Amino acid sequence: MHSFGCALAFIRIYSGFFLSSFATIVNMQQGLVIKSTGSWYQVQLPSGTKVNCRIRGKFRQQGIKTTNPVSVGDIVDVEQNKDGNVISHIHPRENIIVRRSPNLSKQSHILAANVDQAVLMVTLTAPKTHPLFIDRFLVAVESYSIPAVLFFNKIDLLSSSQKQELDHLISVYRSIGYTCVATSVKEDHHIQEAHALLQNKISIVAGNSGVGKSSLINAIEPSLNLKTAAISSYHETGKHTTTFAEMHPLSKGGYIIDTPGIRGFGLYEITKEELSHYFPEIFQHSHECKFYNCSHVHEPGCAVIEAVKENIIDEERYINYLRILEDTGEKHR
Ligand code: GDP
Ligand code: ZN
Repeated sequence: MHSFGCALAFIRIYSGFFLSSFATIVNMQQGLVIKSTGSWYQVQLPSGTKVNCRIRGKFRQQGIKTTNPVSVGDIVDVEQNKDGNVISHIHPRENIIVRRSPNLSKQSHILAANVDQAVLMVTLTAPKTHPLFIDRFLVAVESYSIPAVLFFNKIDLLSSSQKQELDHLISVYRSIGYTCVATSVKEDHHIQEAHALLQNKISIVAGNSGVGKSSLINAIEPSLNLKTAAISSYHETGKHTTTFAEMHPLSKGGYIIDTPGIRGFGLYEITKEELSHYFPEIFQHSHECKFYNCSHVHEPGCAVIEAVKENIIDEERYINYLRILEDTGEKHR
């Protein structure tokens, strides 16, 4: 009886000591990763405070084949202890946007996690965005099951034939189901519409250098004061640019993920067999093809080729399907 009481007291004292020391060392909060530099991560806590965090070494081993275990958009647990702030847990992700690491071919780089929509900004002039680039982007975004939006910027610069081309592209992409907005940051045209589409959402914004991404973000959120082309393209010439994304909060709600140095997203592990799934209008017609495994290239009884002939499927979209098919692998690696 006596020894039992003693043991109990010991356990009480010991656990009391343990719990109180645990409480003083560890203070855990959930937060959103808004910036990543590779070794440091900036995390926004529920109070709005931003803290710089490191990650626990073990994530590096656990992160399967990715060069960065934590990405912007990740919801994480942050432990605040005597050594500083440490990311101790990554919450399950709704989606990730990945690109193959340029240096380590077998590794990939997570550009962003938990994205609501992917915006591609394109221009028909100064510079000209090639439709193949648009379609590659849309295929990548479809493969991630993330909604895509197209902003056609610099419409103030378009000639009358370029305006016709713009109308054609917008009608093609709208008919497939993509939201399109024709904007001019310079003339403040449809910037409110663009802003409304970004509000209360986490959007990743991509596009060739010089199309006006930074200008649009600055027009929507002047306090961000991002560098625009004249300066940034000068710095980019011939240099390796960083590929770490940053999330900019919008004062009316939502975040824009800016991916400096990244024009579009790679087609990550897409096979020839599944490519047509990521062209919504081709996929829709493929159910009527004679052969269930029709590649829509040469097969008899191909409903897709028939729809192209009848102008139901846009010919340039189909040609881009064939082009992307050519450099797509056969099977899952
Ligand atoms: P980014 O590389 O996509 O971020 O492009 P920037 O925002 O740096 O813009 C590139 C250049 O295009 C800058 O000189 C901008 O002033 C200019 N620009 C941006 N939007 C428009 C537009 O709607 N019309 C015209 N004419 N110029 C624009
Ligand atoms: Zn077919």
